[in-house]
Amino acid sequence: MSQKLFDLIIVGAGPAGVMAAKTAGEQGITTALLERKSEIARINRSCTEALGVNEEAFGEFFYFDDSLGNLCFPRNGFTVNYQGPSANLYGFHIYTPGGKRVAMGDCAVQKKLGNAGRVGVVIDKGELIRGILEKARENGVEIFPNSNVCAIRVTGDDVTVSTTAGNDFTGSYVIAADGVNSRIVKYLGLNKGRKFLGTYSVASWDIEGVEPPDPDVMVSVLGLDTSISLCRRPEDGLYHVSSGGYDPSLDHEVGLKKFMAEPAFAPWFKNARGVKRITACVSSIYEPLKAVCIDRRILLAGDAFWRQETSIIGALMPGRKAAMSVALVVKDKKSGKNWIDEYTDWYQKCYYGPLGEGGKSLGDLKAILSRDDFDYLASLVKETLPATMKFYAIIRNIGSAFGRIVPAIRKERPYILEKLSEIRAQAEEDILEPRRKAGFPNR
Ligand SMILES: Cc1cc2nc3c(=O)[nH]c(=O)nc-3n(C[C@H](O)[C@H](O)[C@H](O)COP(=O)(O)OP(=O)(O)OC[C@H]3O[C@@H](n4cnc5c(N)ncnc54)[C@H](O)[C@@H]3O)c2cc1C
Repeated sequence: MSQKLFDLIIVGAGPAGVMAAKTAGEQGITTALLERKSEIARINRSCTEALGVNEEAFGEFFYFDDSLGNLCFPRNGFTVNYQGPSANLYGFHIYTPGGKRVAMGDCAVQKKLGNAGRVGVVIDKGELIRGILEKARENGVEIFPNSNVCAIRVTGDDVTVSTTAGNDFTGSYVIAADGVNSRIVKYLGLNKGRKFLGTYSVASWDIEGVEPPDPDVMVSVLGLDTSISLCRRPEDGLYHVSSGGYDPSLDHEVGLKKFMAEPAFAPWFKNARGVKRITACVSSIYEPLKAVCIDRRILLAGDAFWRQETSIIGALMPGRKAAMSVALVVKDKKSGKNWIDEYTDWYQKCYYGPLGEGGKSLGDLKAILSRDDFDYLASLVKETLPATMKFYAIIRNIGSAFGRIVPAIRKERPYILEKLSEIRAQAEEDILEPRRKAGFPNR
């Protein structure tokens, strides 16, 4: 391929990459977007496609404006138009094997509040990507599907990425938005000293005709052989049902079928009419990266710098911010300012600083608790917990609910507390050891 010098090359066209491309196009810098898939907007990787709304996340208070179809990022000062289908979610419910439930959000109560009571909006991620990609194209971004990047090198003021088809693309800057198992991160050697948390696999079926008791909440089922989650799609009656786990030898088809046959959950599936879409993913998961700019020319955005999921909105923001910084460096040759610092400082403030180091993992609770123990613990939480879909708030809610039921557990099943405190006393290295051994870090 003839050598054209771009201001910016973006690798990966997920939410982070397409947003970076649209932004770079709007800012008038010459940009190439490289994606290994042939159909960029086709979603093959498991994703529940739910946006957490009306809650603080990554320094933003994200909300969705239905009237204009705008995803709104007021603190970061931008919107993204989305004209695809959507449906509201009013809470997050955790079920245990016998069908006991811990509810974060009473669906009926939240629904009465209308859009103000929703905690999530489920969308069609493919449509979101298609819309943003179209804008990028209109703004002059050159888009290269079927381009699987397999090498990167910095030479003086240029960065060149090569594809498996033998094409080279050279630019002044690269944004690596190539997802959780970023090849660019690997090629740069950044996984070498990074804490490996295990390999997580997921398979998801979109099933028609599912009838859970609360159709408009996200559901997570704990205590079965695999971790199960269930969430509606924008279309009525269509559900995204996933099986996941840290043991790569897990058979998720078996996991899904077993879940659907469980006496507590089988009634949800009695009118199920078949699988409309299958998606899956296998992710080797590391701790988040602290540095997101390498050699002052390569910026990382989205899942490429995080664990498994920055989330869709959490990937759109760094995509845009990284492209803005590159546009400033390219356009402002006079001030002598290093605009890339805007991106790296923002990342420290909104991502790595508050959430980068994470908490200590408790490992696999199934190894110490029986199905009945899970049911028992859930049955002790009588009250409805605050409505949320935000991962960190869910953990906080569970923690405080657990605090309130400790006296009952101490009286009725003290061995549960003993087992939990044994785990807490263990070094994280030991807790993670089984996952690490089963997984493949692929550094
Ligand atoms: C099971 C599961 C459920 C989830 N549910 C939700 C949810 O409900 N809501 C939510 O907001 N988030 C959810 N997420 C997280 C969400 O999917 C990601 O955080 C988000 O898609 C990250 O966007 P990204 O652009 O950084 O990466 P990705 O979406 O992974 O995009 C990366 C892109 O780079 C491309 N690519 C990779 N390598 C190369 C290469 N070498 N050359 C060229 N292209 C390459 C890939 O094909 C892909 O298109 C979920 C994730 C998982 C695993």
